[in-house]
Amino acid sequence: MTPGRPVPPPLAKPLPDLSADAADTEGATGTADVTGTPGPRLAAAYGATASDSGLVPLTVARRSPKEDDVEIAIEFCGLCHSDVHATRGEWGSQNYPLVPGHEIVGRVSRVGSAVDDFTLGELVGVGCLVDSCRECDSCLDGLEQYCENGMTGTYGAKDRRNGDAITQGGYATSVVVDRRYVLHVPESLDPAAAAPLLCAGVTTYSPLRHFDVEEGDVVGVVGLGGLGHMAVKLAKAMGAEVKVFTTSESKFAAARELGADEVILSRDEAAMDAANRSIDVIIDTVAAPHDLNPYFRTLRVDGALFQLGLPSEKMPPVNPGALIRRRIAYAGSLIGGIAETQQMLDFCAEHGVTSDVEVVRADQLNDAYDRMVAGDVKYRFVLDTSTLGTPSERADA
Ligand SMILES: [Zn+2]
Ligand SMILES: [Zn+2]
Repeated sequence: MTPGRPVPPPLAKPLPDLSADAADTEGATGTADVTGTPGPRLAAAYGATASDSGLVPLTVARRSPKEDDVEIAIEFCGLCHSDVHATRGEWGSQNYPLVPGHEIVGRVSRVGSAVDDFTLGELVGVGCLVDSCRECDSCLDGLEQYCENGMTGTYGAKDRRNGDAITQGGYATSVVVDRRYVLHVPESLDPAAAAPLLCAGVTTYSPLRHFDVEEGDVVGVVGLGGLGHMAVKLAKAMGAEVKVFTTSESKFAAARELGADEVILSRDEAAMDAANRSIDVIIDTVAAPHDLNPYFRTLRVDGALFQLGLPSEKMPPVNPGALIRRRIAYAGSLIGGIAETQQMLDFCAEHGVTSDVEVVRADQLNDAYDRMVAGDVKYRFVLDTSTLGTPSERADA
């Protein structure tokens, strides 16, 4: 253990019997390995042991790659607001210990015998889901995020194909994921700045693509955080004109730096009036309750507003008249499917789009969470997993 790091909590589980697992034919047969060692491995990680524990060093047991599995040596993992809500138990009860993180970028370290689409050492990514039923209409349509039987989240979810183990996320030195849910990350992308594309990037890319945004369209972006700054960059890369709505004049310069053509102070009624009927589609990234009706008035006929943030309290009511009079669609959207996430990564490589990031060490994670809640980050924190240390001899999770 590195001096100065917080003391880990009592160990919850014994070390998996590596020799027994290594002899398990399903686990070990045909696994290609850079080190030649089959079997499960322990990963150093940071996670929560209770809703009020903060993030502390933990050790996670990762399964031995099965025939379709890819083992990834994680290099970077983005910090998403969902991670804060989940580890603090703000979205309902959780299974602790819980290692968050679903913006994972790393390199392939082992593959199962049936994996022929990933090579050792390749740069890869994992986003918000690591499995789904693969049989329902949504899955068959490449919309695994809307799986009718429930997608398996990258952390805190029951892993149905792996004995209902609770999935543990990317604030860790490694992870094992079925190849169907692993993305190819183009080498031209900076790995740290590419990590947030796996959640913040695809969450904004998907509704922009669903609306078929192209050159000549006008895109509005509400909120300029992790999601909002990606929406600006992606919409610009698609050739759109971009208008950013913000509640704070202090964000005007930052919005223009990101490429916004116009910045509108949302509490300035004259500026909102001037934007009347000027926008085709609005990407609303604000997770706090807010009145949408002033934004509907900025949309053209057949415009749409996609709400991406999920407020924990009730929103002010939507005025149906505002929708009816211009045939406006009020929609939601959740991340993206696997094929679309790959398409997004390739698009970002082609257009040189990545996230603006501040890389943090493991011992800065708790501060980073407080700063995220305070909105004090431009625009995404990313954990450098080389600072996680080494796993202890027994697994906590
Ligand atoms: Zn996320
Ligand atoms: Zn499904």
